[in-house]
Amino acid sequence: MEILEYMEAHGHEQLLICHEPSQGLRAFIAIHDTTLGPACGGLRVWPHESEDDAIMDVLRLSRAMTYKSAVAGLDLGGGKALIMADPHTDKNEAMLRAFGRHVDSLGGRYVTTEDVGMTPRDVEYIAQETEHVVGLPESLGGSGDTSLMTGLGVYLGMKAAAKATWGDESLSGRTVALQGFGHVGSNTATHLLEEGAKLVVTDIFESARQEAADMGAIVVEPDDIYDAECDIFSPCALGGVLNGDTIPRLRCEIVAGGANNQLLSDADGDLLEERGMTYAPDYVVNAGGIINVGSEIGGVYRKDRALELTKRIYRTTLDVIETARSEGITTNAAAARIAERRIAAVRGLKAML
Ligand code: NAD
Repeated sequence: MEILEYMEAHGHEQLLICHEPSQGLRAFIAIHDTTLGPACGGLRVWPHESEDDAIMDVLRLSRAMTYKSAVAGLDLGGGKALIMADPHTDKNEAMLRAFGRHVDSLGGRYVTTEDVGMTPRDVEYIAQETEHVVGLPESLGGSGDTSLMTGLGVYLGMKAAAKATWGDESLSGRTVALQGFGHVGSNTATHLLEEGAKLVVTDIFESARQEAADMGAIVVEPDDIYDAECDIFSPCALGGVLNGDTIPRLRCEIVAGGANNQLLSDADGDLLEERGMTYAPDYVVNAGGIINVGSEIGGVYRKDRALELTKRIYRTTLDVIETARSEGITTNAAAARIAERRIAAVRGLKAML
């Protein structure tokens, strides 16, 4: 793989290789774009089989963060970090603190937070070495569980998609099929039930399925969720679930959910369009998480600000759908276009100074 060629083609600014053999640390920090502000994105701990795989993953994920924050109207750029290690067997305090020192060496160009393979305790270890970390527990003045804000944003994104599709944002009496009843899925469900929506839910864990049933949802087997008769299909578990095999099975008019990277490929966005479905892009509606932790930068978490920005997801989702319609492109392409226009405008502004 030609790393610099890839970075040039995709607009990346920096790739930092972090090596601390005494602590078993082998990590990468990717900074995609800092035009709008410091690069912010989570640290993933994952045992990639090769350095090439790990580098590609961190570069791709950092770029996605640029787009997510840009569309959400945040003054943040895109970044991501990855420690090549097994989160269950290799991760420890010293390794995370060593990583924190590397983050600190960037002087705030990159702000880290929790991602796959991490726990709130791990974030605390990093915070012992750097102030450039967010997503701290509330007991340390942080924003706590981000999935509350993510769930609210997903719900508001659904309402905007409903408005654009049916001319009415009300979800009362509508049926939503939720795939995954974890943090984001269950928080989204709470808002939906409050509004009088009906739920069809699946999860691979019995405890999650039971929780959904206790809340009044109809529970189905994991693979049956794609065939569920519903108004909205909401992926809240895994990426890649919208693909050539699943899209033909969907029986909904709207797809809107919290999972990252729902489309297996861009062509699957076209496929949803061809089936006449409104797709509310994942990173537009699930931005509540980055909004929440982003509201912690500067040392004081401002919940009212996080709430205000999360509520804007409704308007942003409508803008994305309207742009897609007026420019004759998919909603996914429209979201990317909105992000790129904002970054280009701010870059132009900076050039004036
Ligand atoms: P979670 O682990 O709490 O919940 C995921 C749930 O999905 C679990 O209950 C799991 O059992 C279930 N699941 C896994 N595979 C499944 C399958 N094949 N079929 C049905 N259910 C399955 O995670 P979360 O924090 O709720 O995150 C869910 C998704 O949202 C992830 O893609 C995550 O990256 C994304 N996301 C989360 C946040 C956040 O604030 N937590 C923010 C943005 C995006």
